[in-house]
Amino acid sequence: MAEFVTNAGNILVVDDDPQALNLMSRRLRRHDYDVDQAESGSLALERIGRTSYDAILLDIMTGSSGIETLIAIRKNHGPSDLPVIMVTAVPDDAYVVEALEAGANDYVAKSVDFRVLLARLKNHVALKRAEKDAADTRMRLEERVEERTRELRVSQRLLRTVFNAIPHHIFVKDIEGRYTMANKMFREFWKIPAENLVDAKVSILSWADEDMPVAIERHDRRIFEKGETVIEPEVTFQLKDGREVVRRQIKVPLRDMEGKIVGLVGISEDITHRRQTEEALRQAQKMEAVGQLTGGVAHDFNNLLQIIHGYTQIALTQKDLSERIVDHLQKVIEAAGRAANLTRQLLAFSRQSVLKPEYLDINFLLQNFEKMVRLLVGVDIDLEFRAGKNLLPVHVDPGTIEQVLLNLAINARDAMPKGGRLVIESSGFRADEKFCEVNAWESPGDYVEIKVSDTGVGMPPEVLEKIFDPFFTTKDQGKGTGLGLSMVYGSIEQHGGKILVYSEPGKGTTFRIYLPVADNASRDETEIAHQAVSGGNETILIAEDTREVLELVTKLLEGVGYQIISANNGLEALEIFNRNPENIDLIMLDVVMPRMGGREVYDQITKIRPETSILFTTGFGANLVDTEFLFKKKLTLIQKPYLPNELFSTVREMLDRRR
Ligand code: ADP
Ligand code: MG
Repeated sequence: MAEFVTNAGNILVVDDDPQALNLMSRRLRRHDYDVDQAESGSLALERIGRTSYDAILLDIMTGSSGIETLIAIRKNHGPSDLPVIMVTAVPDDAYVVEALEAGANDYVAKSVDFRVLLARLKNHVALKRAEKDAADTRMRLEERVEERTRELRVSQRLLRTVFNAIPHHIFVKDIEGRYTMANKMFREFWKIPAENLVDAKVSILSWADEDMPVAIERHDRRIFEKGETVIEPEVTFQLKDGREVVRRQIKVPLRDMEGKIVGLVGISEDITHRRQTEEALRQAQKMEAVGQLTGGVAHDFNNLLQIIHGYTQIALTQKDLSERIVDHLQKVIEAAGRAANLTRQLLAFSRQSVLKPEYLDINFLLQNFEKMVRLLVGVDIDLEFRAGKNLLPVHVDPGTIEQVLLNLAINARDAMPKGGRLVIESSGFRADEKFCEVNAWESPGDYVEIKVSDTGVGMPPEVLEKIFDPFFTTKDQGKGTGLGLSMVYGSIEQHGGKILVYSEPGKGTTFRIYLPVADNASRDETEIAHQAVSGGNETILIAEDTREVLELVTKLLEGVGYQIISANNGLEALEIFNRNPENIDLIMLDVVMPRMGGREVYDQITKIRPETSILFTTGFGANLVDTEFLFKKKLTLIQKPYLPNELFSTVREMLDRRR
């Protein structure tokens, strides 16, 4: 800061003539100047070194030592820094020129009117002070600029650090839609280096849909026009590499100092995983609630069906019933049987099945299942089984898992009325923390995955959302019950497993089932069932009145080597048996059949040949009236629908026991 100045100026008068020096000093002091004196050049230089003067009045002095002094002064001080006025006794032009060339600011002859000298001195002092003020101001400004620049750099660095550390995309676009800035997250996500991005438009990003850039630019223009912040709570982007991401975005108009909109700042957050997790949770909760409800209803239903079935059965044992009444009662039993099948699936959905888990290699189960699926899907469907290598054993109820796969296979078949491809594939799968979080699974760990994929009609999202709901079906009445996938879902959950599905209309469907691998402790103690169930070459007589069931069982058993003789009812079976009892190794009898039921056939046959092996089959529970005798006599029963493994092992066991 300039010091507060009160006097007219600080002046140094230099003259080797003491008289003239004193005179000049006195006169100047009278006009309010502070005056120092020097009687020689060297004294003057010394003073100048110590004190800051506004001007020097320098006499030429003897031997031109004044000019030398002037030259010495100019070495350290510029003319505006320290004005020097030469004083000459005689006005001699040669001196004047020499003095001015040596750097004097002015010259005055001693003879001149003192007022002239005063006036000139005053001007020089004023000029010098103004220059000094200006220089001070300039210096202060420079200091401030430097300080501000430093501050700016610090805040720029802060901004850049924050910009790149934020786990969201941040981008800045100008009013033409050209990127001017984008943070690291953004550039890494889009795999685009900074130098390619600057000045590029949104079309440089890899969109799956060519119309996307146009739509985004249209959206941006609205922000420019309205000048308001826009929040997009959920936008879905399809990327060229096939990824689909859901993002939450905020776009803020960017204004210049005058308030004019010059672009926008966008912040975009990836909420794909969050959405998936929420959706998975929502779905799980829904299934839980529906499951509980269904479970209660199914139980009550089951009890009622048992009563209907039981009493109808009792009514049937009455003597002297007309053919028509018998026929009617049998229809009731048949319907009750079908209803029981439905309730069984409902119970499975509500995870209330009674499981008999075994330690097994899933490939072993698939191997046997394959035979059945081949019969089921027909020739128009190309069926492929792929068994994964080195699978860890699982602890599952084989019958239930077969039923699950059967339901999936039937659905796949129904989805491919014009043929297609069905692939069933097993593999190992490790669910890591991240995967579990996204899919709302409780426990990371090792699973065995069974993938069932078809090339069928696929499903739109609104169907996909409901497929596990009990009674949800898109099939015509009588064709679908809507319980297949409910059973699948409940059973897999009951096994501690998971099911995922992916489908798109026209592109087919893939179900993925995950079964937890059996834990180490129990696996060590238990023998793992891995050897394939063997068939045989014995002859089996099957009595069954439902044609499809008869066909299926015949094919299954023939498939593993047995000779099959089939009968459509009990009477027919008895006749066949009577013709050649020695030839038959095993008889399979349906408990309920027209023209002689299983029980009566049994009584007749055991009369002739008590050692005959007889396997009973029924579509209904084993604790019912019509099967009571089986319990009393400790007879073997297998329940419909037949599942290959259960059937093969039961048949083999009975044949082996015979020996
Ligand atoms: P249902 O087969 O009796 O209709 P599900 O519970 O087995 O009952 O299946 C429910 C619905 O899910 C089906 O009606 C169908 O719309 C759909 N669905 C199931 N599996 C598939 C598939 N593989 N392809 C296409 N749609 C399927
Ligand atoms: Mg189904």
